[in-house]
Amino acid sequence: MDCLFCKIVEGTIPSRKVYEDDRVVAFHDIQPQAPVHMLVIPKKHIASMNDAADDDAQLLGYCLLVAKKIAKEAGLEEKGYRIVNNCGPDSGQIVFHIHLHVLGGEKLAPLGNTH
Ligand code: AMP
Ligand code: ZN
Repeated sequence: MDCLFCKIVEGTIPSRKVYEDDRVVAFHDIQPQAPVHMLVIPKKHIASMNDAADDDAQLLGYCLLVAKKIAKEAGLEEKGYRIVNNCGPDSGQIVFHIHLHVLGGEKLAPLGNTH
């Protein structure tokens, strides 16, 4: 399958990993939109939230907890951070392997300013 993030999971495309275990990988976004911008992905290929099944609930919940963990390790716990998932064309999703963005390190624009 020709999936960029599956290749990052396999290690055939390099990434600046911040966390990895048997189910999840987290790494720095290549084009950061904030001083801290990391991505959390399940190793399992799920294209988007639209493709997430009931069976994926535990894995996706775990991705959220990994997002919390790497945010804390990046020093974001106290001041806060944003966790974002884009799903489909209107959201601007460009990589169709489900991922959480973890953004922080500055005061982020309110969500109302995103259109
Ligand atoms: P999305 O628009 O939600 O699909 O976000 C995809 C994200 O992946 C964007 O923020 C890109 O900057 C990021 N990205 C694309 N290619 C790479 C890569 N090779 N390594 C790290 N992040 C990447
Ligand atoms: Zn994939």
